[in-house]
Amino acid sequence: MHKTFWMTSDILSQLNPNAGMLLVRSLWEYCPEQMFILRVEGPSEFVIEAMNPTRQAVLGESAALIGKPIEQLVPASECQGVVAHLRRCVETRSPLSYEESCGYHELNGGSLHAHWQTLLIPISNQEGVVTHVFGISRDLALMSPGVGSGGSQFCELEQRVHERTAELLAANERLTYLASHDHLTGTYNRRYLLEMAELELRRAFRYQQPMCLLMLDIDYFKELNDTHGHLEGDEALRCLARTIMATVRECDLVGRYGGDEFLILMPETTASGAQEFAERLRITLSQTTRLTISIGIACLEPGDDLVVDLIDRADSLLLQAKRNGRNRIEYAA
Ligand code: GH3
Ligand code: MG
Repeated sequence: MHKTFWMTSDILSQLNPNAGMLLVRSLWEYCPEQMFILRVEGPSEFVIEAMNPTRQAVLGESAALIGKPIEQLVPASECQGVVAHLRRCVETRSPLSYEESCGYHELNGGSLHAHWQTLLIPISNQEGVVTHVFGISRDLALMSPGVGSGGSQFCELEQRVHERTAELLAANERLTYLASHDHLTGTYNRRYLLEMAELELRRAFRYQQPMCLLMLDIDYFKELNDTHGHLEGDEALRCLARTIMATVRECDLVGRYGGDEFLILMPETTASGAQEFAERLRITLSQTTRLTISIGIACLEPGDDLVVDLIDRADSLLLQAKRNGRNRIEYAA
């Protein structure tokens, strides 16, 4: 197995870049498998960017799907499963191979249901951010073996493969979760949150939508640790995270930035929307717990290149909230 891999890789490295490009182009044009490229627009948003001729032939006249979200291709009842796989591929930044039963809307109004084997491959830009997913799907019904003397052996083997695949998928899912979440609070970890936030920033500029970033920090948290111990401090962090998660919308991104600091990225949210949310969160916490928090709110501005531009402003405003007495919200006037 390894030997083949290295041989292939050696051959590829001997090709000149044009020949490599030609190889990829020929595979795209002539390979009998269905291929597609999706653009990553957000943590759960994927847009169809291209389909190879084989896929176009299967789906019918499919030019109308280019530039459309995959929800227009996959029925709502099955979309969640498809998006979960795409999301895992983006989060792990690794190829992902799986089988699924799934239907597609056909453009003539019918639908195509099959058992697919799919390989997803993440494509990153120069900054290492996954911007696209390349996929190959094969209809397994087209390759099922004839039922003969080896039929039952094949079924047993197939059953074992299915069980093993399910185990590996579960393990993979766990690893994906660990790689993208903070172990204590279950919110996103800093690295993953920043990665997703960059995508949201690009999307906000592309569609000219507002976006806000909140940075919040528990007031006098050291004192709580010193007085009641670190275990109680840990529980306070979990409690804050639960309250934030129960208050935000599904499309908001929540992550632990470090220590007792959290970031909340709110796409499609104006300054007044973010202030309303921050006030609701501050009041809920002070009514249901002994915790108070200070919050800095930064809104997307035309000159912002990267998420750190927003983070810097939210951080300064948070500091201002601390200086002005804590348990308060500061935003740029
Ligand atoms: P301020 O009002 O200015 O924010 O004061 P503060 O005491 O909250 O100061 P600061 O935010 O700098 O303190 C953060 C503290 O959080 C320091 C550190 O001991 C504690 N901390 C960081 N990570 C953890 C953790 O995982 N668990 C617990 N229990 N404490 C933590
Ligand atoms: Mg603090």
